[in-house]
Amino acid sequence: MQIIDGKKTSADIREELKERLLKLKTEKGKVPGLVTILVGEDPASQVYVNSKIKACAKIGILSKQENLSENISEEELLSLIDKYNNNEEIHGILVQLPLPKHIDEDKVIEAISPEKDVDGFHPMSIGKLVIGKDTFKSCTPYGILELLKRYNIETSGKHVVVVGRSNIVGKPIANMLLQKEEGANSVVTICHSAAPDISVYTKQADILIAAVGRAELIKADMVKDDVVVIDVGINRIDAPETKKGYKLVGDVEFEGVSKKASYITPVPGGVGPMTIAMLLSNTFKAFDKLENRAGK
Ligand code: NAP
Repeated sequence: MQIIDGKKTSADIREELKERLLKLKTEKGKVPGLVTILVGEDPASQVYVNSKIKACAKIGILSKQENLSENISEEELLSLIDKYNNNEEIHGILVQLPLPKHIDEDKVIEAISPEKDVDGFHPMSIGKLVIGKDTFKSCTPYGILELLKRYNIETSGKHVVVVGRSNIVGKPIANMLLQKEEGANSVVTICHSAAPDISVYTKQADILIAAVGRAELIKADMVKDDVVVIDVGINRIDAPETKKGYKLVGDVEFEGVSKKASYITPVPGGVGPMTIAMLLSNTFKAFDKLENRAGK
């Protein structure tokens, strides 16, 4: 069994990007820019946004931060997004979700220019993904693709079973792996809470992707030998023996399943660290595309 080390892979990607950014700056004097927009003071969102800003700074992406009051109107937020859609120094726009209830999330996502949609949530990005056109892939599923690629895990013709059909993980990763292209070309099954018995499907998986949000739902008797396991879940469970009183576990019961798996991602340290790396990568891609389009 081999551990798929997301922490190391994420660090490798950041290092590669850092070198490309340095070259860009030295040769052309240019720097890609990302704006992160945070509405309100949700502590978890603040942590996410801060780590994105830090990650930008470490590799040399210009990052701009907008911290807005919880009470900002939808109209004001939309007009701020429009301002950044037209700002030539900014190539990626990220609005941290969730938003306060009085703001329509769909409207906000749709207001971001698809050319700057580095989170890959715009319906245009999702639509292009489904029909196999080049687009921004949303960061967590993109991170999964990258892990499979960098660990040389064959996906073509393999049966991928995805547990979970959310718009941010389950549906996009299923669509990415379905595409007739290198690093994908899989036979894909998606299952969800309406399945009477998910083990009927999980037992058939060559590659199992769990994005459920249920601590240790997938047990050893639900997978076959040599399965490749990608565990997206991040669940907090009580652990009185630890200092914090809790620990993080995935959607897969690691202890048992790892004994049967050929490859497995740990939680934490698997898929989690990849999300920010892919955001940085998407920001570089947005810069490249916008520069090429402008003929610079
Ligand atoms: P979500 O929106 O809650 O979706 C969960 C999916 O799992 C739904 O499709 C749901 O089915 C399905 N489901 C729930 N219980 C099930 C069961 N008992 N059997 C089969 N299917 C079941 O969650 P998400 O946003 O995709 O996130 C999933 C997990 O990944 C969470 O733990 C989250 O914290 C983690 N996550 C990690 C990252 C990262 O590492 N960077 C990013 C995003 C999410 P229905 O559709 O029928 O309700």
